[in-house]
Amino acid sequence: AKESGRNNYKFYNTNMEKNTYEKLSLERDLRHAIERDELLLYYQPQIELSSGTIVGVETLTRWNHPKLGFIPPSEFIPIAEYSRLIVPIGKWILYTACKQNKAWQDAGLPKVHVAVNLSIHQFQNSEIIQTVAHILQETGLEPQYLELEITESIAMQDVEKVILTLQGLYALGVKISIDDFGTGYSSLNYLKNFPIQRLKIDKSFLDDIVINPKERAIVGAIIIMAHSLNLRVTAEGVETMEQVALLQACNCDEIQGYIYSRPIPTHECAELLAERRVY
Ligand code: C2E
Ligand code: CA
Ligand code: CA
Ligand code: CA
Repeated sequence: AKESGRNNYKFYNTNMEKNTYEKLSLERDLRHAIERDELLLYYQPQIELSSGTIVGVETLTRWNHPKLGFIPPSEFIPIAEYSRLIVPIGKWILYTACKQNKAWQDAGLPKVHVAVNLSIHQFQNSEIIQTVAHILQETGLEPQYLELEITESIAMQDVEKVILTLQGLYALGVKISIDDFGTGYSSLNYLKNFPIQRLKIDKSFLDDIVINPKERAIVGAIIIMAHSLNLRVTAEGVETMEQVALLQACNCDEIQGYIYSRPIPTHECAELLAERRVY
């Protein structure tokens, strides 16, 4: 028993070392991902229900690792965050998304906003306002075509500082939305103090709206509240026409989800925009 115990320990220890090694090597690889052209921006269309057309696209980043293949953001964003690589990587993502949107507009495609996810570390970086201003200036994208997605977790930070940052971004003319709305453990108090323009209702609230009247009631109430605060509402992760119909009945403004499109690479997104399709 003692022997096998020792063996178990050894086995466990080896695994642990392997995991740590993998983490470290991923972090090391991530350090070079930008210069090696391994990070790719995908875009997911956002459809306005009243017009049936694309009004925006959300940038979702993929890492094409030379040995491991595509690594999802759920795996590499946390590594980027704890290593603080998220600041330079996030800056590159912001720049690339703005530059791409301007290029689409210059090519005569319909003007849409590009939504970019902003990690809390990027938001808390003292240079974030200058960074965004500089990127807009450098790419020539008009500010109303950039939307920044932040999560409710910012509401749990130093509120006065957060408001100053949000006001600075708002003054640039960019839009700010609350991502994954309803999933953070924060009070709703921030809604009245923050200069934001949109709530994105998380997929978890929408999965069962067709079969569960309570979920429907919650989503309906969120939309009514948002509208009375002059906020627009995007429903995320919508997969069925039944969900679309219910969201339409609740006056939801925009929908993003596999029902219309998965996140797609740049050239496919350009083709979609060129189609000017009405859904
Ligand atoms: P998120 O911002 O909430 O993005 C929505 C996620 O839901 C995306 O996953 C998207 O592909 C997925 N999704 C969209 N529609 C559907 C649907 O109909 N059904 C299902 N099952 N899923 C759907 P993805 O691309 O894996 O990204 C996961 C998360 O990683 C994002 O969640 C975001 O928090 C983070 N992320 C992605 N790109 C970036 C980035 O460039 N910067 C930062 N800071 N975070 C990012
Ligand atoms: Ca998002
Ligand atoms: Ca989300
Ligand atoms: Ca999410």
